[in-house]
Amino acid sequence: MINSPAAEQNTSPFLAITEVHCVPLVGESPKGGWATEIRPEDPIHAIIAIHTKDGPTGYGSVFTNGHLAYEAVKLLAPLLIGANALEPGRSTENLHQNSFWMGRGGTLTNVISGLNIALWDILGKVTGLPVSTLLGGRYLEKVKPYCSLLMDEPAVMRDTIVKYREEGYRAFKIGWGPFGRRDNYRSDEAIIEAARSALPEGYELFVDAGASDAYWPNGLKWALRTAEMLRDYDVGWFEEALVPDDLEGFVTLRRQAMLPITGGEVLTRRQSFQPFLERGAFDIVQPDVTKVGGISEQRYIYEMAAAHGVAYVGHGWNTALGLAADLQMAAAFPNTRYVEYIGGSAYVDGLLKTPFSLDPNGMLTIPHGPGLGVQLDPGKLARYVRDIDVLRLA
Ligand SMILES: [Mg+2]
Repeated sequence: MINSPAAEQNTSPFLAITEVHCVPLVGESPKGGWATEIRPEDPIHAIIAIHTKDGPTGYGSVFTNGHLAYEAVKLLAPLLIGANALEPGRSTENLHQNSFWMGRGGTLTNVISGLNIALWDILGKVTGLPVSTLLGGRYLEKVKPYCSLLMDEPAVMRDTIVKYREEGYRAFKIGWGPFGRRDNYRSDEAIIEAARSALPEGYELFVDAGASDAYWPNGLKWALRTAEMLRDYDVGWFEEALVPDDLEGFVTLRRQAMLPITGGEVLTRRQSFQPFLERGAFDIVQPDVTKVGGISEQRYIYEMAAAHGVAYVGHGWNTALGLAADLQMAAAFPNTRYVEYIGGSAYVDGLLKTPFSLDPNGMLTIPHGPGLGVQLDPGKLARYVRDIDVLRLA
């Protein structure tokens, strides 16, 4: 059932959606460095499967509580069953149009993200093309992943970076944990100093304050002073230095800080990004494809950022499917330089038949197979989901 004005005249190739499923991931949820820390058994991510009539299944990923995601899929599925799986934009827009009164911008938008990713995956599988080609073409075949790690005490931080450096990463982002949470600039600086000392010349270091955490205690003056310190250690960007709604603070910080200011990972829908981009709040915007509304929405956000001279780095790092979507968009969105890669997460490294691997230069190859170009491994995934059968993995 498609409640769209053009439904009756539409004579496009048609592949009916038959079933929609959501399975939360549990058992090895990684720590987030949050004030109230994530436990391994907390379902903070979920996998989406969309089945079609005699056609392929598409898979997607959602970053929100798995119980909420499961219930949201029950609400949205009737709008998708019978709709055209070959129209990711139109079928997703129908979800936005018919759910605005039930939590627009929240869990429903997060879940629509996973559904949209799955629909792009189906379109790619049916046409035999990678999503990047369907988005308009590939500017890149490889992209640099930055290894994303939680901050820790200086000696531990140094050892952790050395461990991942030896795995082949050339760029690192450290964040959250104790940083900015002790009212002690020297303690913050000691962590950054230790991290930088673990990296040879030419290796990149980024810093994420994680000010979207509960009860973030700092404001603009802390951010300005810390930005100065980070610049002395040749830090490549300063992320979430202010609470996510502090538009005016970000505008001032970006004007005065001498290193790039980044943010936007908690925003959803293009409308939320609009004032931040128009007012000049960020040097780099970091939308999360598993939250903002999916690949279709992220493309609007990317285009809006590019029109304002703002760079883009995706934040879909939380599962192998989110990263796979980020890789396709890195290929298709000009001037994308990085993807985020969480260090040591089972949900990224332990779900695929062919896991992601770094080349000798620390780069990730962007898959060129149909759709997202990756295949979930049912044997591996069964460790983290209760109902593996509904995903119908081969
Ligand atoms: Mg972040």
